[in-house]
Amino acid sequence: MTDTGQDWTERYRRAVMNTFGTPQRVLVRGEGAYVWDADGARYLDLLGGIAVNALGHAHPALVQAVTEQLGAVGHVSNFFTTPAHVRLAERLLEIVTPGGAPDGSRVFLANSGTEANEAAFKLVRRHGDGTRPRVLALEGAFHGRTMGALALTHKAAYREPFAPLPGGVEFLPFGDVAALADAMDDDVAALVLEPIQGEAGVRPLPAGYLAAARRLTADHGALLVLDEVQTGMGRTGTWMAHHGIVDPDGGGTSPVVPDVVTLAKSLGGGMPIGAAIALGGRAGGLLGPGQHGTTFGGNPVSAAAALAVIETIERDGLLHHAAVTGKALADALAGVPGVRTVRGSGLLLAAELEAPVAKEAAAALLDAGFIVNPVAPDALRVAPPLILTQEQAATLVDALPAALATAGLRTPPGAGRAEETP
Ligand SMILES: *Cc1c(COP(=O)(O)O)cnc(C)c1O
Repeated sequence: MTDTGQDWTERYRRAVMNTFGTPQRVLVRGEGAYVWDADGARYLDLLGGIAVNALGHAHPALVQAVTEQLGAVGHVSNFFTTPAHVRLAERLLEIVTPGGAPDGSRVFLANSGTEANEAAFKLVRRHGDGTRPRVLALEGAFHGRTMGALALTHKAAYREPFAPLPGGVEFLPFGDVAALADAMDDDVAALVLEPIQGEAGVRPLPAGYLAAARRLTADHGALLVLDEVQTGMGRTGTWMAHHGIVDPDGGGTSPVVPDVVTLAKSLGGGMPIGAAIALGGRAGGLLGPGQHGTTFGGNPVSAAAALAVIETIERDGLLHHAAVTGKALADALAGVPGVRTVRGSGLLLAAELEAPVAKEAAAALLDAGFIVNPVAPDALRVAPPLILTQEQAATLVDALPAALATAGLRTPPGAGRAEETP
């Protein structure tokens, strides 16, 4: 048997459980923002493992940190700890909110986004000692696939085959402050939000919603949980996406301070890790000894990887770089005929198309050497490595018109918007 992509794909189909459909390519190598498949073709990776490969592929700092840690000590049980575990918790408390987390804040390290949210859900259940049975989430929300995180996830196709899920969760209309005000009461334990709904198609919360959510939860003693699994770790140009969201009515420019923030995806730059960060003494003290745990959570190799991600983002100015590169890419994509609008922030963007041909357009782009994701029938998502250069980003913009034409979106070159204004 040879090692072509087709051979691997056939073997995959015989050996791997069919939860993901057929893989589009078999990838064997990566460097920076590029990956190569088993047949030697190169792709610009504008999806970054779905907002995971923050430093791109095979970044020397990440390789060195993981190698050194594994060579020193790769795993200890939770009866012990390691400097990497402690240092990462300290660093997360420094970056989770501008100026650092308040006294009493605490970090729980897990292995994934769904586990970070599972920890947050359990913490939320402890709030109110049984007097707060309700948890609010939004329509369109995606918080993961374990039973607890799934209970917070809105999509019927993900939930219904697995009923009954943990109870008490109610879904509110997206971005509707009046509906939130109606639902909020003293029996609510928490409101769980994504600053930008990623899986729902890169949908930012409307202006003012997050600040209203903070006021309403505070008024009723409920916790505000921000799922920054996809949006956090510099992706939108600030350490956390919520740092960049200002209250249009608040006068000041200081961002809201949530009670819990969850992270994963970019946190480990490709190594599996998640974090639930409880801000302040009230949230920080809700889970006590024996109430939660994990064998691999906090393992020093993933913690060392996350420390390398944080150090590299700081050293190389990648927050600013993500903001500038993302802005330029969003502006350029918005000018491509066939693109109706561009949603998102920094390097988490979706180009909304004038017709529901995102799947076909993504397939055409893949054939042309670009990895993007049809996050909705009419939207292409990009969530590339934060190291993506403006020159690399521009090659996607150049390739998009041909891909849209292949996908059947009729926008002959040179036509488009100009036609509407004779
Ligand atoms: C991806 C994602 C999750 C789930 O993370 P996993 O690591 O896949 O378990 C949770 N919340 C959001 C917002 C996500 O984008």
